[in-house]
Amino acid sequence: MRYVSTRGQAPVLDFEQAMLTGLARDGGLYLPEAVPVLDDLAAFDGLSYENAAFRILKPFTGDSFTDDELRGAITRAYAGFGHIARAPLTQLAPGHFLLELFHGPTLAFKDFAMQLIGQLFQIALARSGQRITIVGATSGDTGSAAIEAFRGLPNVDVFILFPHGRVSEVQRRQMTTPPDANVHALALDGHFDDCQARLKDLFNDHDFRDSVGLAGVNSINWGRVLAQIVYYVTAAVSLGAPGRQVDFTVPTGNFGDIFAGSIARQMGVPIRRLVVATNQNDILHRALTTGDYRTGSVEPSISPSMDIQVSSNFERALYLAYGGDAGAIRQLMDELKTGGFSISQGALQALRDQYASGRVSEDETRAMIRTIREETGQVICPHTAVGVHVARQHIEPGVPMVTLATAHAAKFPDAVQDAIGLRPALPPHMAGLFDLPERVTRVENDNDALKSLILERRTA
Ligand SMILES: *Cc1c(COP(=O)(O)O)cnc(C)c1O
Repeated sequence: MRYVSTRGQAPVLDFEQAMLTGLARDGGLYLPEAVPVLDDLAAFDGLSYENAAFRILKPFTGDSFTDDELRGAITRAYAGFGHIARAPLTQLAPGHFLLELFHGPTLAFKDFAMQLIGQLFQIALARSGQRITIVGATSGDTGSAAIEAFRGLPNVDVFILFPHGRVSEVQRRQMTTPPDANVHALALDGHFDDCQARLKDLFNDHDFRDSVGLAGVNSINWGRVLAQIVYYVTAAVSLGAPGRQVDFTVPTGNFGDIFAGSIARQMGVPIRRLVVATNQNDILHRALTTGDYRTGSVEPSISPSMDIQVSSNFERALYLAYGGDAGAIRQLMDELKTGGFSISQGALQALRDQYASGRVSEDETRAMIRTIREETGQVICPHTAVGVHVARQHIEPGVPMVTLATAHAAKFPDAVQDAIGLRPALPPHMAGLFDLPERVTRVENDNDALKSLILERRTA
């Protein structure tokens, strides 16, 4: 399988190279040249998550890993999950299901991809003897998942930039308490978008990039999108695919998780509609309703992992909606530097054919946490509540709706307590989190400062 950049001016790579690289050298994002079709979807019924994952991933990873390597990586990636189904589907209401993606070690869906690429990186690096520096930007959950996946590995340093004061205490402690010397938590003075911008600048500085062996594990990394395709397939098959259509609602920030659903759809999974659910940072909802993709300022919310105004993976959806016209994408991304762009009529139609959208206020989010608690006894996290709120507006009879439950409520105890007066408890494996010492470095929102810090702290 060959991977091409959405901006058309970076080298074509194989899976391993695309995964190790993260961001393409022309600033674009890698996509497979062609998406394989799953013509035996019915045969997925009853498969273990791991076996389903192997069948889905294999055509995308091609010759980069042997069958044994890939199987081993998948097995180890999900062995630490707290549920045998890995991504269990539970029922919320008639016709409405929750896909629970919070049974991994850091309690958010990010573990699905990060645990897997952690294993795949290890195999690739052991083979080549290469040393790398992972730098990631996080709105909260990617950072902890990346640290959990890469801590203690011999030829890897992992630097995580998070917006100072804008992640929950549980999220922060998950990043600052691992004692491993190769883990570096950096609190940046700014928003998540600043973290993401600094990261892109580091990658676009090719001398620096090459000198430290920069590798990116943000949701722009194709390997992450790929791993997330699996649960769309297993959920759809559980609900009757290929014989029945399914809708999905996805609480979205960077458009990574929902874009994986779009690839599942291209692979032949009968997904009728993918519904984008945003909080008050609603650039995606505005773009899909008005055709105008324009950044505003980030308004911190109780669903902080979606407090984003520049939605990186949307570039992939645009590339497909523009029929693979890399020149058009380069132009749009140029316009974005000065605030935004208009999506062409044809591309907007293509997007609306598969995506619907909705926006949820802070009050509505809290109200939905309460409603679900009253209706089902279940306690959901604020991101999931955003999803459930939008899903309820899009449910149609005869088509099951699946809302992705992206995190465990215990990651956001303050918001949940505000909503229902109860503080959700951390699961036993994290019970000691509040007693451990923290290690964190405060950094300014400045490239040079960041580069010297990375050079100074690197152990690999
Ligand atoms: C990252 C995250 C999201 C948003 O996912 P994207 O792939 O960025 O759209 C939603 N909810 C939670 C809990 C997250 O950690």
